[in-house]
Amino acid sequence: MVKAPEDEHPVKAFGWAARDNSGTLSPFHFSRRATGEKDVKLKILYCGVCHSDLHSVKNETGKVTYPVLPGHEIAGVVTEVGSQVTKVKVGDKVGVGCMAGSCRSCENCTNDLENQCPKMVLTYRSKYFDGTTTYGGYSDIMVCDEHFIVRWPENMPLDAGCPLLCAGITTYSPLKYFGLDKPGTRVGVVGLGGLGHVGVKLAKAFGAIVTVISTNPDKKEEAIKSLGVDSFLVSSDQDQMMAATGTLDGILDTVSAHHSVQPLLSLLKNNGKLILLGVIPKPLELPVFPLLAGRKIVAGSGIGGMKETQEMIDFAAKHNITADVEVIGMDYINQAMERLEKADVKYRFVIDVAGTLKDA
Ligand code: NAP
Ligand code: ZN
Ligand code: ZN
Repeated sequence: MVKAPEDEHPVKAFGWAARDNSGTLSPFHFSRRATGEKDVKLKILYCGVCHSDLHSVKNETGKVTYPVLPGHEIAGVVTEVGSQVTKVKVGDKVGVGCMAGSCRSCENCTNDLENQCPKMVLTYRSKYFDGTTTYGGYSDIMVCDEHFIVRWPENMPLDAGCPLLCAGITTYSPLKYFGLDKPGTRVGVVGLGGLGHVGVKLAKAFGAIVTVISTNPDKKEEAIKSLGVDSFLVSSDQDQMMAATGTLDGILDTVSAHHSVQPLLSLLKNNGKLILLGVIPKPLELPVFPLLAGRKIVAGSGIGGMKETQEMIDFAAKHNITADVEVIGMDYINQAMERLEKADVKYRFVIDVAGTLKDA
């Protein structure tokens, strides 16, 4: 017999979940497993609101089963550890990102690429190895294998730091892998949202010269003044786009909706790389001539492994990089999702989970 989410495990838990593709979130009682030998139990303090959460609650990728309890930018404090846990202790600040499990033995896992493991378990909306559904960080507590726990740097704030667990690693990993982490590299960032603004900060810390390509001219002044963006292109302005033809070594494309990549390919130098990060269910149209003529590369990248996630957050702490956040209460989440849909946030909503989640 299939057990109700409340009865699957011994530990009572509470959060907010979507029940159907309206995406509306509401209070939800469920349960967490007892803390196993290698598990860490944490009290969730803050959780970022990633656009993937919005895609998921609305089932825009067509892969989810409800209820969906999102949240994969989780910061909290350890309340219990299993007998075999060595990474952290009770009272430590920790993070949990997009992954809650992987096989740990395949070629990807042994190369610190758990994110590419065929058996990778997402922090929410996946099946865990025990057959139960994973539920994310819009909730009071979590139990997670220590391998998927991130140690929290001392000087990193929990609220402004938690978005790094997805937005940070998703932009850090391709900057490094595709060689866009060298001083003087000309990096473009398309879409100045959660991922985009963190990508800008990381690229700047690597010493890159950063161009933002945005649909919204109103973001220009602040992008230049407070994010240190070197150049800002409004994607609908043909003259600006034309003038920047062939200027970029690489582009992180963080756009969350269907769009044309042709103008972006034009911005690349020969041998330049367009790296797609947005979760876009419908295929994009790919013109081949600019690729042939300029030996350009179109690639994709998905989050990053655990070792690199730790490296990223330590790098961010060293360079005083956090996300620019609007901290909200749990009961504001549905309005926040509506605003996120319209790109009306600078630049990441973060839920004050511990301060505002009240058991119904
Ligand atoms: P976000 O905060 O909503 O930012 C996306 C930005 O894209 C917006 O701020 C907007 O920037 C731009 N944009 C939105 N709609 C657009 C449209 N129709 N045409 C052109 N530009 C548009 O989202 P996010 O949390 O950064 O996530 C971005 C995407 O990455 C989502 O699809 C998310 O699911 C995905 N994601 C992927 C990974 C991965 O591992 N690859 C990880 C996390 C998230 P402007 O106002 O500046 O134009
Ligand atoms: Zn995310
Ligand atoms: Zn594996």
